[in-house]
Amino acid sequence: MSENGFTTQIVHSDRRSDSVHGAIHRPIHISTEYAYSDARELVAVFQGKSGYTYARQGTPTTAALEAQVTQMEQGEATVIFATGMAALAATFFALLRQGDHLITSKYIFGNTNSLLMTLANFGVEVSLVDATDASEVAAAIKDTTRMVFVETIANPGTQIADLVAIGDLCKAHGLVYVVDSTLSSPYLCPSKFFGASLVVNSLSKHIGGHGNGLGGSVTQTGLYDWANYPHIYDAYRQGASRNWGLLQIKKKGLRDMGGTLSSDVAHRVSAGAETLALRMERICANALTLANFLSVHPKVARVHYPGLTSHPQHERAAQLFGGRFGGLLGVELDDRIDVFDFLNRLRVFVLATHLGDNRTLVLPVAHTIYYEMGPERRALMGIPDGFLRVSVGIEDENDLTGDFSQALESA
Ligand SMILES: *Cc1c(COP(=O)(O)O)cnc(C)c1O
Repeated sequence: MSENGFTTQIVHSDRRSDSVHGAIHRPIHISTEYAYSDARELVAVFQGKSGYTYARQGTPTTAALEAQVTQMEQGEATVIFATGMAALAATFFALLRQGDHLITSKYIFGNTNSLLMTLANFGVEVSLVDATDASEVAAAIKDTTRMVFVETIANPGTQIADLVAIGDLCKAHGLVYVVDSTLSSPYLCPSKFFGASLVVNSLSKHIGGHGNGLGGSVTQTGLYDWANYPHIYDAYRQGASRNWGLLQIKKKGLRDMGGTLSSDVAHRVSAGAETLALRMERICANALTLANFLSVHPKVARVHYPGLTSHPQHERAAQLFGGRFGGLLGVELDDRIDVFDFLNRLRVFVLATHLGDNRTLVLPVAHTIYYEMGPERRALMGIPDGFLRVSVGIEDENDLTGDFSQALESA
């Protein structure tokens, strides 16, 4: 099947394994425990043979979603979690220990930044650098550095990390390279092409797409060999060394920390994932139209969108993502416009947090997700009070430009 395209592969993947009663869609497995008629078989599964024991570590339904994500990422294996944050927490806490050093971007997603500050309180040193420039990452590497963590497209500033050059650096220094591809999704480019060791996705965003189920994933690309990684427990040093890291993330993150996704939600996310390519094409086209429209509007001070030639990493984004630039826009309104008055005049745009929904969502960043940071830190990150985050959906493009402009005209 691998010769087929992205969507053909996804919508036909279910039929590759046994189907009960000829059902095209797989059933939702609700059982918490899994029984064996042969005691030796039960014991073998506990000792590492593939199979199911207790649903905290997975069910046939969560495994089906894992296979789907693996296929989209062109990876080797995936573990899914209750949320994107659970996937990230499992990755950091399973692989890092006191005294380790982690390098990440200063433009990182706010909740991930907060998680890393918790990790710092457990003794992991965290350096925040401008990851749009690999030389800043290179300068931060020291003897204790174990991992580099970046996002493909930053939220809400839309900076694009120096993904390929950072991948080369990590390879040269034997560092684990973790890429959060939530904002681009594997459809724009699987992160193994950047040299990622592990790829994290929030399934709550583009992959699910419908905004009615949370989820997260960690995918192993096969590019990292864990043989010399010092923190792999003896119990997980079994079989090929390329699999050890993900096995430890699964055991710690699902079995020990319990960040498990339910079968019901896994099924819903999986149904959404079938249309990822269609939605992304439409979302990216809508976002580019809206960005072009707003960038020349007299009441808009600035538009941040990688598809605009004015974006500092436009060339990089064009090269990496095949001429598509994602669905996230940062829009700075002219100072004279009252942000709240403007927002209250919108009819199509939904005033809500979240990204990657079928609906276009808008949020005043300084007053919401960046509120906790305070004005100084916001100024440092380039977030003025009139900064709006727009997550573009699949509506008809004229309705988006029309709605934004009617609200601007009357505000
Ligand atoms: C939303 C998001 C997350 C967290 O995902 P949840 O599923 O909401 O927990 C992680 N990284 C990025 C870049 C995100 O946008």
